[in-house]
Amino acid sequence: MSKPTPDANHSPDSLVSPDSLTTITCTGCPMGCLVSVTQGPGGEWQFSGAQCPRGDIHARQEITHPVRPLTTLIPVRGSRIPLSVKTSQPVPKALFWDFVDQIHRLELERPIHTGDILAENLLGTGIALLATRTLD
Ligand code: SF4
Repeated sequence: MSKPTPDANHSPDSLVSPDSLTTITCTGCPMGCLVSVTQGPGGEWQFSGAQCPRGDIHARQEITHPVRPLTTLIPVRGSRIPLSVKTSQPVPKALFWDFVDQIHRLELERPIHTGDILAENLLGTGIALLATRTLD
């Protein structure tokens, strides 16, 4: 399986049919397939351009409920080293900066250990915040 090679004189978007609604770049592997999204006569989503089924799944997720992984560093009282943290699952893209804002308002103290749950229900979504390093 080989990825289509774009014409050097055209942007990747020029590979998409003119009636496509949007183009999603699949991030499932380094191939980075461009998935063209259209709607059928009944309004159903149609996908083309992916080299494997994961591309359609990724494109559907992107147009219906896009999410992003969230990792960041936050200060801890009494520590000169910031704490690396991550959410327990990817967060809705539309709320990404709201999550960041709430996470950076947390007031934490040592000791903290890798895997500790630092907040259980960010923005009422049920998504938790986990420590990804230890600060004794
Ligand atoms: S569609 Fe499949 S081959 Fe293409 S980037 Fe996504 S995971 Fe990789």
